[in-house]
Amino acid sequence: MGDMDDHRAAADAPTDSDASASAEAEEIRRFWARLRLPGLVDVHTHFMPERVLHKVWEYFDGLGPMTGGLEWPITYRKEEAERAGILREFGVRAFTAMVYPHKPGMARWLNGWAVDFARRTPDCLHTATLYPEPGVEAYVREAVEAGARVFKAHVQVGAYDPADELLQPAWGLLAEAGVPVVIHCGSGPAPGKHTGPEPIARVLARHPRLRLVVAHMGMPEYEEFFDLAERYGEVRLDTTMAFTDFSESFMPFPRRALPRLAGLGDRVLLGSDFPNLPYPYVDQLHALERLDLGDDWLRAVCHDNAAGLFGL
Ligand SMILES: [Zn+2]
Repeated sequence: MGDMDDHRAAADAPTDSDASASAEAEEIRRFWARLRLPGLVDVHTHFMPERVLHKVWEYFDGLGPMTGGLEWPITYRKEEAERAGILREFGVRAFTAMVYPHKPGMARWLNGWAVDFARRTPDCLHTATLYPEPGVEAYVREAVEAGARVFKAHVQVGAYDPADELLQPAWGLLAEAGVPVVIHCGSGPAPGKHTGPEPIARVLARHPRLRLVVAHMGMPEYEEFFDLAERYGEVRLDTTMAFTDFSESFMPFPRRALPRLAGLGDRVLLGSDFPNLPYPYVDQLHALERLDLGDDWLRAVCHDNAAGLFGL
């Protein structure tokens, strides 16, 4: 908290951190301008009630087991309005508010917060979440009717089986409505009881048109999740943290899978994990660039695929 107070006190005077943020913004703008894009679309950013976000930051600070024991300095530890402002400076045209519950009785409350956040943040795609619990179908329906454009599910933090019977009607409803669900289901940075491709394969067997967006490229089970994306045409993947030096150091992307990554170019979406990333945002973009899959691939991934999916 001291951080935030200091920042307020220093708000009138430009600081070193302001200067480096605007240098970064310039670099990011050069990245998408060179590709002749109108900006970026980032499908994986975290906005949530402040006290929940502070708990998440405390978790990363304490190197909780789900961080895989890695040092995880949060790069953009700022107040909400400032965080949204940074994304705009970067030229992120649309982003999300990835909220997720870790226990029953929390999802509906988070969804209520997210309605309000979307209302006061027009460039945020109205986001909702779900959890296997009685009533989930009703609140998912409510969220869709209220205009939710994307859902977030977190199999690792929620510690549930995504193929749980309680979720079946909700998956069916989302498949029918064509609303994408960003789902953290890979076993990175640390495995959970229900992470990995197998439970997701069971979900897709029952809901083959469900628009799952596999977060973090399915890290570290990249290739198994590619199998699912190649089998089911509505499955997509987000780039969140993948290919960066940070992730490559402990869950490297197998080079042999590069041609498959190129082939899935119309179903890979830029995601960053902003603000919870342990390095500058621009690192994610450079990591994509150095895959060397070409400018058409970058244009699709950094903007056009998500713009098409969300009708931007
Ligand atoms: Zn995330």
